[in-house]
Amino acid sequence: MKRLAVLGYPVAHSRSPAMQNAALQALGLEREWSYEAIEMTPAEFPARVPAMPAEGFAGANVTVPHKRAALDVADDASRVAIEIGAANTLSFTGEGIAADNTDAAGFMEAISESPESKRALVLGAGGAARAVVWALECSGALIDVWNRTAKRAHDLTLDLGGAPVEDPDPTDYELIVNATAVGLAGEDPFAELPLAPGSLASGQLVVDLVYGDAETQLVRAARRAGASVVDGFEVLVQQGAASLRIWTGEDPPLELMRSAARQAR
Ligand code: NAP
Repeated sequence: MKRLAVLGYPVAHSRSPAMQNAALQALGLEREWSYEAIEMTPAEFPARVPAMPAEGFAGANVTVPHKRAALDVADDASRVAIEIGAANTLSFTGEGIAADNTDAAGFMEAISESPESKRALVLGAGGAARAVVWALECSGALIDVWNRTAKRAHDLTLDLGGAPVEDPDPTDYELIVNATAVGLAGEDPFAELPLAPGSLASGQLVVDLVYGDAETQLVRAARRAGASVVDGFEVLVQQGAASLRIWTGEDPPLELMRSAARQAR
């Protein structure tokens, strides 16, 4: 059995095991591959990951707070992971640990329209925002980055492109991406982020990377305003599908992964 896992702290909330095991079953691989969630503290991560191949693991997804450490523990890394400065996919091969980042490709697949020349506002400056800005920059979008801690937005744009903004007018943008953690614990996006329900409108695409048991407040407000919406589940599915392709070489069953991710609790 080749084992796969998602490594995080905490990780119990992750929908990845349900989604990936459903995909493995649909591909007829459930006797050869399995996928589980493993909680690892940041202190444990650097020693536990190199020991995983000996325990039968062939790969892992990595989530908060380990994406930077995943790059550090790798023997080899893709260009995208190096440029973003974080990895969410590890493969354990005969040659060591290979790191990749499928968050950027997952985001692009999820938005499914070209952002070239569009004005984009990215909210956040953590690992997810870095992947989004990298992907948008490669696609020729015109990016502004806002973050609660302004210096981090400034530093991110120095690394990856785009311009930092401190007081953006959301009506200026065709694409708005929430890459902060706001909404994860039910926080009000209109109190914590530089957005107002009245500043969302049709003609805009609003992407909320956050997902939970219920639709996020931002997604609900964007739908009500007539904006196009991509929620965090779609991004989760697309990044997970890209990871599954790296490990197994198979074409992931996207529709089934969507319903498994949404139904899992
Ligand atoms: P991270 O590196 O910890 O960054 C967190 C970001 O959220 C920072 O920019 C932080 O701002 C901001 N933030 C936190 N609380 C805030 C508040 N109350 N008001 C304003 N800003 C706040 O986390 P990450 O890896 O980038 O992930 C960010 C979110 O994206 C998480 O909710 C994660 O679950 C989600 N995500 C989803 C997917 C998916 O597949 N759907 C993939 C990746 C990430 P400061 O710098 O000021 O602290």
